[in-house]
Amino acid sequence: MATIGFIGLGNMGGPMLANLVRAGHQVTAYDLSEAARDAGKAAGGAIAAGAGDVSKGAEIVITMLPAGRHVLSVYQDPTGPLHQAAPGTLFIDCSTIDVTSARSAHELARRANMLSLDAPVSGGVGGATAGTLTFMVGGAPEAFARGESVLANMGKKIVHCGGDGAGQAAKICNNMLLGISMIATGEAFALGERLGLTHQALFDVISTASGQCWSVTSYCPVPGPVPASPANNDYKPGFAAELMLKDLSLALEAAQSTATDCALGKHAQEIYARFNTAGHAGEDFSAVIRDVRARSGG
Ligand code: NAD
Repeated sequence: MATIGFIGLGNMGGPMLANLVRAGHQVTAYDLSEAARDAGKAAGGAIAAGAGDVSKGAEIVITMLPAGRHVLSVYQDPTGPLHQAAPGTLFIDCSTIDVTSARSAHELARRANMLSLDAPVSGGVGGATAGTLTFMVGGAPEAFARGESVLANMGKKIVHCGGDGAGQAAKICNNMLLGISMIATGEAFALGERLGLTHQALFDVISTASGQCWSVTSYCPVPGPVPASPANNDYKPGFAAELMLKDLSLALEAAQSTATDCALGKHAQEIYARFNTAGHAGEDFSAVIRDVRARSGG
């Protein structure tokens, strides 16, 4: 079992820490928020006085923070974990951040003689709690070999996608496709409603025909056909619309920096931006079907 430092005990980090403790690891954690620290303590973590202190004696330091600037501020802090850990410590950033910041984090770790991985997740709070996350991992093979078994304590699928930043790259490509496919699914069901089709009849066709996709078969945005989807629970997330907008914005940033023409990704970003501004940021992203109906006159 490993000695692990953990920084960022929010909606995702809290339950991830709990699974590490359950697996028998010794975890020392820190969060800026007192409530999150209390939750981390209740989950069995020891709480450190600051982010740098979590790395004392740690073999692995995990971060689960909101965005690239938070991760880099922790990595660059002269009193932070990168400067207090023993050489050769493995740093794993599980946050969803932009590819450029992820590569900078790897570079900072390398200069401090540490090993590093970017390992963003999919599966949401439900997956974090159940320990069934998918990890998309970037970094050197020796870093992956060290980190894989610990990631397996928090997830069920661990994919080594390539070198530095490859995990973040895979995550934003997947989520751009998901954002687009959910809007397209919303349009298909809204059109079906106008044409007099029942939700179940349309689901029975699409789920076994050439339009089939995860947004239909596992996360159908209308109540009924997939009982566990957020549509059956007044669109409680799940995966909030504000997080989908964040991921689409990261994808579009990457598209711009690589001169890739992602016309549908850009349109999806505009639709989610409008949906968020209209007061739906906290709803599940599949509630975007409401935007389709609103644009169609209600
Ligand atoms: P969150 O806002 O609930 O938690 C982030 C935590 O980081 C907060 O508790 C905050 O106090 C803490 N924090 C911020 N800066 C810090 C610092 N410098 N030092 C210590 N603590 C600090 O966010 P979350 O939902 O747990 O998401 C975390 C990451 O996971 C994000 O990058 C998000 O995009 C990604 N993600 C979230 C979901 C989801 O469904 N919530 C799904 C997949 C990926």
